[in-house]
Amino acid sequence: MKTYTPMIQQYLKIKAEVPDAFLFFRLGDFYEMFFDDALNASRELEITLTARDGGVAEKIPMCGVPHHAAAGYIEQLIEKGFKVAICEQTEDPKQTKGVVKREIVQMITPGTVMEARSLDEKENHYIAAVTGFEDRSYSIAYLDLSTGESKATVVDSKEEAVNELVSIQAREVVFSSSEDPAIEKMLRERNILSLSTMDDCDMASSFTYVVEDLKEDKLLRSMNRLLHYTMSTQKRALDHLQKTAPYQTASFLRMDPNSKRNLELTETIRGNGKKGSLVWLLDETMTAMGARLLKRWIERPLVDQKAIKHRLEAVEGFVDCFFERQTLRELLKGVYDLERLAGRVAFGNVNARDLVQLKKSLQQIPGVRQTLTEMDHPVIQAISDSLDPCADLADELETAIVEQPPLAIKDGNFIKDGFNAELDEYRDASRNGKTWIAELEQKERKKTGIRSLKIGYNRVFGYYIEVTKANLSALQEGMYERRQTLTNAERFITPELKEKEELILQAEVRSTELEYTLFQALREKVKVEIPRLQKLAYEISKLDVLQCFATVSENRHYVKPAFNSERKIEIIEGRHPVVEKVMDSQEYVPNDCTMNKECEMLLITGPNMSGKSTYMRQVALTSILAQMGCYVPAAKANLPIFDRIFTRIGAADDLVSGQSTFMVEMLEAQHALSHATQNSLILFDEIGRGTSTYDGMALAQAIIEYVHDKVGAKTLFSTHYHELVDLSNDLNNLVNVHVSAAEQDGHVVFLHKVKEGPADKSYGIHVAQLANLPTSLIDRANSLLAGFESTEEKTGNKQIGDLSTGQLSLFEEPEIKKEKKPDKIQRELLATNVLDLTPLEAMNELYRLQKLAKSQSK
Ligand code: ADP
Repeated sequence: MKTYTPMIQQYLKIKAEVPDAFLFFRLGDFYEMFFDDALNASRELEITLTARDGGVAEKIPMCGVPHHAAAGYIEQLIEKGFKVAICEQTEDPKQTKGVVKREIVQMITPGTVMEARSLDEKENHYIAAVTGFEDRSYSIAYLDLSTGESKATVVDSKEEAVNELVSIQAREVVFSSSEDPAIEKMLRERNILSLSTMDDCDMASSFTYVVEDLKEDKLLRSMNRLLHYTMSTQKRALDHLQKTAPYQTASFLRMDPNSKRNLELTETIRGNGKKGSLVWLLDETMTAMGARLLKRWIERPLVDQKAIKHRLEAVEGFVDCFFERQTLRELLKGVYDLERLAGRVAFGNVNARDLVQLKKSLQQIPGVRQTLTEMDHPVIQAISDSLDPCADLADELETAIVEQPPLAIKDGNFIKDGFNAELDEYRDASRNGKTWIAELEQKERKKTGIRSLKIGYNRVFGYYIEVTKANLSALQEGMYERRQTLTNAERFITPELKEKEELILQAEVRSTELEYTLFQALREKVKVEIPRLQKLAYEISKLDVLQCFATVSENRHYVKPAFNSERKIEIIEGRHPVVEKVMDSQEYVPNDCTMNKECEMLLITGPNMSGKSTYMRQVALTSILAQMGCYVPAAKANLPIFDRIFTRIGAADDLVSGQSTFMVEMLEAQHALSHATQNSLILFDEIGRGTSTYDGMALAQAIIEYVHDKVGAKTLFSTHYHELVDLSNDLNNLVNVHVSAAEQDGHVVFLHKVKEGPADKSYGIHVAQLANLPTSLIDRANSLLAGFESTEEKTGNKQIGDLSTGQLSLFEEPEIKKEKKPDKIQRELLATNVLDLTPLEAMNELYRLQKLAKSQSK
């Protein structure tokens, strides 16, 4: 270290404090990075790598970004999951000898970023802390620094902790250094990449209020660590943090992240985009706060019937008042993001324009209240009463700040006349001075007879009298003092002019200084009101989501659901909300779903593409919507209140964790079987598909029997194994239904109608035909099928095998004539799920089968 220059030594010392962050080291107008940081940053940010002397033989790698453009680069790094430490010069270089003092003034991390550009206004942005305990439980605390909201809970296992962190989409998780590394690994596998370390510490007294409601020690452990980490990275006041709300995961309808993903609640499975998800369908909110709350409500439907009914009653009130609702929506459009504004006030980075938006938002509230009152509905009146218009603050801001203030807060011109007497005086002095100067111009023109004489101003010379060269002769000697010569003109001053100038400039300097002071005082006043603003923001966001439910429900003809405690599902003419919206709703075929004590499981058969998954999902989505307090897409719905929903849908490979389709399938099945209760809803779509036919079918049957006999949850099970339909003979509470299809001119027509009883046949080859597989291949498959069917007829054996004994006998049937017995190729062709293949895989498969055929015919 000794041999480095003093500045590099200083750099290395500071860098040692933040080994896991990029150190943005301020040097004049640049933030520079050195050594490995420079190498990595030049790669990540695509900026030029240079080198500089650092006192040792080898040059030091260096790269930098201009300080005024740093925000964009920081954002890029944060988005990639990195952390950035901002190191500023903390003394004036002109006043110091040697190396200027420098300090880290802020750490920007993925979980604590506050810059508006990095924050999606419709999403919360959580940083979390997690702590494991000896009894295997875990506590989790999380907060959104931009809104000040925080929550904490205890869960029973590591898996649940990971699920919870994935569910809230934690951007960063803070561990203690002694935490079991297994949980870190699990989080990384689930794509939570930004992990930080901070050890337990005592709670700072300024946070006593924040943790007031956390009675359990376990909760405090995580929350303390989280607050400590946040404080130490932000190095500033966090006055906007709200009281942490403790909660229990069992107070909500629980869905693990896979199930949520499968049901496409907030993003679609393919493409991971919002479009096509439930939140996309539902988002008729008018404010950013409402949009964020909507997402939280979708992720956490309720289980408390009273609370659900309360929401539904409000929605009913809004549905009934169409015109008032339209007025309300217009008014809400004018409400700014009060939650994030409160955060920015606490952070000290609001400007006058923000305060005008705050004022305008507050000025909407009396109108909102009035409109709600006009709806004349008890639940909605209670919402109206809960809205505090903060009239005192709105009035103060109204009298203080002009309607269209400039962006900069240090250049003045944003405080209204009449707000402050001293400011008015300065402004008068400056305005009078300017009038005096205008008059002087007239006077001097008359006196000299020069009509083009003018008085101007610039920063260097101040006010001056300008006379063109052609007119100079009209001036008397000694009339003015010469200041500046231009090509065409001369500029002069007079002592009188300079005197006025002094007065004007002084008044202007004082007035901008005073405006800044007044602004800071205003900001402090707003700061004191942060809790009131946050409460208002929450009430507005609830109101916004409830009107959003009403708007969607009315537009899409949804009905108010009823609930029962007999574990009965009765959905009449139910629809899948998103599929219905995406396709023309005229074409959507509504379907009923009736389940009760005698029917705990539905075994759904039907051709591929007929609508089995859609049907299953629509039942789950209907329940989720109902438990969120929204109307549902059906003609009538009476539902139980589910405690958990599990889904195993589709066969998408979990690329992130690198697990095979089949493993994921089995893990999800295991999760459902071990956690479901009688009050849960399970959707199993085509389970067992990811392995060979016999394996798959055997597993599917075993799973059905297990759920039927041991779990008793309401279960929808779709399968393409027709052979399973006979299970209804042995399992009392299992009922067969099928999604119907008809054959017309050799083509399959999907009717999408769910009917009683099992499907009569499989239409796999027709579907393959629809997928445009080569005609010769389809013909061959048809003739093979005919062969198998005639075999079945001869043997009278419709079933592939006796599943209950585990003997799968179709291909070993002794009575089949030798030439009819399906050979290896036929078996393989039968076991191939054509629809699961890409065109390239289909080609390869065909090639392989042909090769096999050739080798057999030799
Ligand atoms: P499966 O699970 O049987 O293979 P899906 O549920 O994936 O079939 O449905 C395939 C397609 O059929 C859907 O993408 C949708 O376009 C259409 N579909 C499904 N159900 C209906 C319905 N009730 N009314 C109209 N179209 C439907």
